[in-house]
Amino acid sequence: MFEPTTPTLNSPNSVLANALLSTVDMLRPRVREARPERIEFVVGTQINGVPHLGTNLVQSAAFLLAQEARNVFRLETAVRFSALDNAPYEIVLDPTSGHDYQQTYFHALGRLGVEKLVGRYYRPFFDSLSSATDVEYVAETYTEQQAGPAFRAEFLRTLEAEEDLRWWLSPSTGVVHTRIPCPMCGWAEKRAERTRLVRLDGEGALYTAVCQNHGAYDTYIDPTDAAYLDLATLYRNVVKERAFTRDTTTLHVMLKGGDWAGGCQLVDGALEALGTPGRRMPVRVFTPQVLSDTGGKLSKSLIRAAGGLASVSGGEPWMLSTTGWPGTTDQFVDALLWLVRHLLADPKHFFRSFTAQESRHKS
Ligand SMILES: [Zn+2]
Repeated sequence: MFEPTTPTLNSPNSVLANALLSTVDMLRPRVREARPERIEFVVGTQINGVPHLGTNLVQSAAFLLAQEARNVFRLETAVRFSALDNAPYEIVLDPTSGHDYQQTYFHALGRLGVEKLVGRYYRPFFDSLSSATDVEYVAETYTEQQAGPAFRAEFLRTLEAEEDLRWWLSPSTGVVHTRIPCPMCGWAEKRAERTRLVRLDGEGALYTAVCQNHGAYDTYIDPTDAAYLDLATLYRNVVKERAFTRDTTTLHVMLKGGDWAGGCQLVDGALEALGTPGRRMPVRVFTPQVLSDTGGKLSKSLIRAAGGLASVSGGEPWMLSTTGWPGTTDQFVDALLWLVRHLLADPKHFFRSFTAQESRHKS
């Protein structure tokens, strides 16, 4: 009923595409070197509302690559989905300090509220992808991730190398934004202007910060306590990927939208500053982006500012809010898998981006 149009793809060559016969070959050097027992494809998504096509495309690519890697390398594969519930839910200006304060989705909605959001927008989609590709997945929230002793211990270790790390995490100012939300209300200074690391000892780290409503507070972060640790995007990726490098049985492959490619140079610099051995550096696969007419990524907020979807040739409502897809979740997944399989079939198609016009489907 919702058959995709037959794309007449004519993709330019690139250094990477030219080096590969198949997209999944991207993983072969590391698989041969690391000799893992299994491969996990890691995909993280900010859960700030209804997903758009670009998000679902990365996720579909994760399942299809997992399926293909299982066949090609004869290894067990799975997908790990991180629902980033530390995305800002609300940002307010504190008139007294002139600093922005923010509240995460987790702090605004609570654990059950976040579960409900993931259950509404992601679970049915992932269940359908999983059953269509026969690939298992685990879903975790950022809140669960930051509460894990391995993640927290890894964070504490980065503090010992802070001097080497901070320019990678914040090249313009060298100031790293580590948000420690107020234990009373859960709000935190967005840019952590008054958050200070006052003591780092063998057990943990003592921070002081200032809440707009409750004044100054102390928070001690150690591997097992419950204090919330809200790391900005680059820092979170560094800590997460550094923790993955310690797992010698599972190879973790980061799936990211193509707009992440530049940012990963900073993550890599930080991982090197932490002494990560070259052979343990993460493997990354960048997926095609869906672009507007300007060549910029299809962005909900920019399109809204430009007066709506009419500003994008070929733009359709479901591309921005995939709940607007005029069919069932399984039909949506079938169409996406068809599309991404087609792209994966030739590295020239996969390692490039597409305009909304090219991504249309006929009904
Ligand atoms: Zn407070």
